This record gives sequence, structure tokens and C-alpha cells, in this order.
Amino acid sequence: MYDKYSMKAEEFIDHQQILDTLAFADEHKRDAALIDQIIGKARQRKGLDHREASVLLACELEDRNEQIFALAEQIKKDFYGNRIVMFAPLYLSNYCINGCLYCPYHRKNKHIPRKKLSQEEIRAEVIALQDMGHKRLALEAGEDPVNNPLEYILESIKTIYSIKHKNGAIRRVNVNIAATTVEDYRKLKEAGIGTYILFQETYHKESYEHLHPTGPKSNYAYHTEAHDRAMQGGIDDVGLGVLFGLELYRYEFAGLLMHAEHLEAVFGVGPHTISVPRLCPADDIDPGSFDNGISDDIFAKIVACIRVAVPYTGMIISTRESPKVRERVLHLGVSQISGGSRTSVGGYTNEEPEEASTAQFDLSDHRTLDQVVAWLMEMGYIPSFCTACYREGRTGDRFMSLCKSGQINNCCLPNALMTLKEYLMDYASPETRALGERLIASQLGDIPREKTRSIVEDRLARIGAGERDFRF
Ligand code: SAM
Repeated sequence: MYDKYSMKAEEFIDHQQILDTLAFADEHKRDAALIDQIIGKARQRKGLDHREASVLLACELEDRNEQIFALAEQIKKDFYGNRIVMFAPLYLSNYCINGCLYCPYHRKNKHIPRKKLSQEEIRAEVIALQDMGHKRLALEAGEDPVNNPLEYILESIKTIYSIKHKNGAIRRVNVNIAATTVEDYRKLKEAGIGTYILFQETYHKESYEHLHPTGPKSNYAYHTEAHDRAMQGGIDDVGLGVLFGLELYRYEFAGLLMHAEHLEAVFGVGPHTISVPRLCPADDIDPGSFDNGISDDIFAKIVACIRVAVPYTGMIISTRESPKVRERVLHLGVSQISGGSRTSVGGYTNEEPEEASTAQFDLSDHRTLDQVVAWLMEMGYIPSFCTACYREGRTGDRFMSLCKSGQINNCCLPNALMTLKEYLMDYASPETRALGERLIASQLGDIPREKTRSIVEDRLARIGAGERDFRF
């Protein structure tokens, strides 16, 4: 029986409940009265449950779909303004003992070179990332208790935070490693991580078990309940995601929102972020051999429906997507993007020959961070290198209450402008810098409180003169 309060994976992600939801959505996909009622509820910015959101995802009425897209854009503007948070992945190791059928790091792949960074190599990678201008990383590693034990991850986090190269610093390390114990999550929390991100891959248990035939990740319940254990270990910012392409997208969408409802019900705080990766070509992986690939149009609809269903949850898109697709979904609700990424182990310091690549998947956006930053600003977005919330202890429900209080423009906008100014001073090309200075000048007027605005003006001048790391 479906029970969002249950701590059992198969009860808070109930298969029959999802099937009923999909049948209900299908039945009402042209039901203008119901769809209007749901859109009306979403307009109140209080979110939707999985069933309501599934009806919007299934909606086949063109004019209502336009309203859904327009509402997603408006909600995005209201909660996130035009700020886009920047990050980069850092691959520590591609040793892995799992058998995931979609991932080239699977154990049986004897062809891919295996590599694990030493602390010295991590230092070099982090300096390269700092020299690009990054302040926020997502750590990635395969699951291998012998080669990549938690102690290795913890030591790596310590190394990363300790590196102060020129004006550079990594100020927030998010972590995407395999499901683990409450005790381990507690240690990650103590090491000062930001968000703990774990993709479900698929919520469909039977498919999950088929796609993960061997290794610790094959345990559906252990994987699905990982965010609960992370919360119990004190990590109150957790990130969800599914790998679109593995199962029917409507099933995944309903499962994802049920998972968010579960976290909200049990811990009083929903997911900090939702990622929307799509399956990509990789070493011995051909996405064409999976049946459930989704078009760019459906992808955009999913992003829009997530935005209206969970307005307070950040949405992340990676360089798995092309610049064109990224541009489209930025308008609809994505709030964080990566730039200048490498998905190979040691990829920021070493150019690998293609035939001996350690990469997890092929990228569709190969631009440098500077190019991505300039591109965002040309579209009127403010690339933000802000990490203030987590450093000020505004995580979990404290972050959510900042969002809900509408104070974001007095807090996040100033922080975005100040961290962008740092980027412009230290890392930008002359053209990007000129573009950025104009953008900052034009955005200052959007800070509502006059006192805050004058503090920001003063701090921007001080950053211009060499000071760093101001925050609200
Ligand atoms: N080993 C960890 C785990 O078990 O969750 C870390 C995750 S892995 C480094 C990051 C994510 O990449 C996976 O969760 C998966 O969704 C995604 N991924 C794997 N193979 C992929 C592919 N071929 N295309 C796109 N994304 C892929």
C-alpha cells in the first residue's frame, strides 16, 4: 500500500500507485476542467502532488500546454530570478564493482582503463578547476570498497577544501557516490559536504533489478532508501534524479515526485535538487539499445512539470545536453548548470587519447567555462558562483524558508553579483568581463532593499580592489 510516511522503498514508491496514477493521467489528458483546476493550484506556488503533476505531463491540450510552459517560466523567475548556479564534476575514480548495464564503468568492462586519482593528482585537478573559476564541485566516483573506500573520499574532500591557489577556492563540495550507511553519511556531513546527490536511475523495481544485475547497487531498497539514511546522518540537502531513457518517462516522473513527497513528509524538507540526466553514448554503451529514449520536446515538458510541481527544488542540467537543449530548459526551470566539464578521471589536467578514455559518458557541450558564462550573460542570466547558503548554515528547511519568505532577491541576488564580479576579475576573458560589468550594473537596481544595495555597491568596489569572499 502506498504510504509516503513509510520508510520502506516499496511503500513510498508504490508500483500500483504509479500505475493507477498513469491510468488516471491518461484518462484525463484532455480533461480541460481538471487541467485548469490543477494549473490554478500550481499558480499558487504551493506545488502539486505526483498525481496532479502527472496529469499535466500527460496533457494533450495545446493551449493548456502553453500555459504550463508559461507558468514554469514564471515560477522560475519568481523563485530563482535570472541566476544560474555554476558547478563542475570532478571524477575521482572509475573503479567500480557494480554491473550497471548503462554505465561503462561496470565491472565487466575490461576495455576501459581504470584510474584513481592520488591526492597529488586531485590537487592538480582542483588547481585547474580553480583556474577556470569554479567554486563548487560535484565529486563522482564508482562504487568499490577496496579501491574507493569512504576514507579515500573523505581524504579527497579534505584535500579539495585545503587548496588555496591564487584567489581560488572550492567553497562547496557536493558528493555523488553510491548509497551507503547512516554512519558514513554522518562522516560525509562532518567533512563539510554540500548536497548528497544520488540518482535513482529508475524507480521501476523490476527494471532496476534487470539494469543492476550484480554488485551492491543491485539492492533496490537499499539504494532507494539512501536519501533517508543521508538525512538521518545529518545531511539535510539531498539531490534526486533519474536517468531518462531507461524506463517509461511518465513512470519515472511519478516516482520522482513520490520520492520528493516522501522526503517532505518524513523529514519536513523536500529534495534540495533534482537532476534530469538523459542516457548518453559511452565507451561500450549505445543508448540506441535502450527502448525508452525521450525527445527534446518531452524532455522540455518534464522540466516544466517538475518546475511547477516542486517550485522550491533546484534543478540541475549537465553537459550531457547540447547548448541548444540547455538554452531551452534554462527558461523552464533549470537553476544549476555545469560548464567546462570533463567526465574522465584526471580530465582537467590530461588530454586522453579517445581510444583510452576513462570517461563515463560523451559530452554534448564542449565549451569552456568562460564561453558558457558569456553565453548565459548574453541571454540575460546571471552566472552565480555563490556558495553562501551552505556556509551560513542555511541548509535543509532553513534554505527552504529563505525561498518561501521571498527574501531571495535581498540575499541570493547580491551574492550572485558579488561572486560573478570575483569571476570577472580573476578568470574572465576581456570580452566576458566587459559583458559582465554591464550586466552587474544593470542588475543592481533589482535589489529591493536600498541599504542592501548600497552595501553591495561598496563590496563590488572592494572586490575590484582585490578583496574576496563577501557574502550575505
Ligand atoms: N557510483 C555512484 C552511484 O552508484 O550512484 C556514482 C554515480 S555516477 C558517477 C553518476 C551518474 O552518471 C549515475 O548515477 C548515472 O545516472 C549516470 N550515468 C551512468 N552512465 C551514464 C550514461 N551512459 N549516460 C548518461 N549518464 C550516465
